[in-house]
Amino acid sequence: MSRKQSKRKLPEREVKLLKEKEKIEDYVFDRATTHALGNLIKKGYFHKLDYPIATGKEAYVFRASGPRGYVAVKIYKIETAAFNEMRRYIEMDPHLKKLVKNRRKLLYAWASKEFRNLQAIDALGIRVPKPIVHAKNVLVMEFIGEGNLPFPMLKDANFGEECMALEFYEVILHYIRKMYLNGIVHADLSEYNVLATHDGPVLIDVGQSFIDHPQAQDFLKKDVENTVGFFKSKYKLKINMESAINYALGKE
Ligand code: ATP
Ligand code: MN
Repeated sequence: MSRKQSKRKLPEREVKLLKEKEKIEDYVFDRATTHALGNLIKKGYFHKLDYPIATGKEAYVFRASGPRGYVAVKIYKIETAAFNEMRRYIEMDPHLKKLVKNRRKLLYAWASKEFRNLQAIDALGIRVPKPIVHAKNVLVMEFIGEGNLPFPMLKDANFGEECMALEFYEVILHYIRKMYLNGIVHADLSEYNVLATHDGPVLIDVGQSFIDHPQAQDFLKKDVENTVGFFKSKYKLKINMESAINYALGKE
């Protein structure tokens, strides 16, 4: 680029648009997040965020276009709307400021934990989105979808036949067992955290999952209860809870 070009002043309209864009980004993402996204784009993991798949309380999930097709980008929220309003006051109070820093660190650690959990579960041959990379509060993973659209959550899936539901149930229970026998418990399993694909269930949202925990059995029980409860009430499957739990614990 020649000196002349680099010094070229942007037309007023462009400046205005850029400012608007910054405002929006600042509103949706804080600067550190925007920076992390920019770095991932520079490194070629994806070139743009296409559309939001979900905006929960804790995270946004976007569909993004990568060099080898689509990816999913999960962004843990550092600031909520309420938080933005508080920022002015936080800046004035050193104690609060420290807490904010820790919250940031906590979320970075969380994204990295979800990444490692995905790796560990994937290594067992259990279907989860394949982890690709993580940076700060951003996690990039395989997009679980068909063409342009993400596959639905298990709660919204429409199995034409009952036997399909039974097949899904059996695979999920087998996954819970396999994870447990390898020291992993999902710990937030429900019809919201399983995607229903043509090739069977895919487990998602594994940030809170853990490896070797003293209360592993209690969390496992809850996961099984949620799963069994869902299939019993929506698909009227006849399942014995005790024996499902025992199977998941590897006792049967
Ligand atoms: P948190 O526990 O942080 O609140 P969350 O529930 O907001 O997590 P997830 O459950 O991981 O976040 O994802 C939210 C939604 O985004 C899912 O219900 C699912 O519909 C969609 N989703 C998540 N990961 C993928 C993926 N890899 N491919 C396609 N869709 C996904
Ligand atoms: Mn979830």
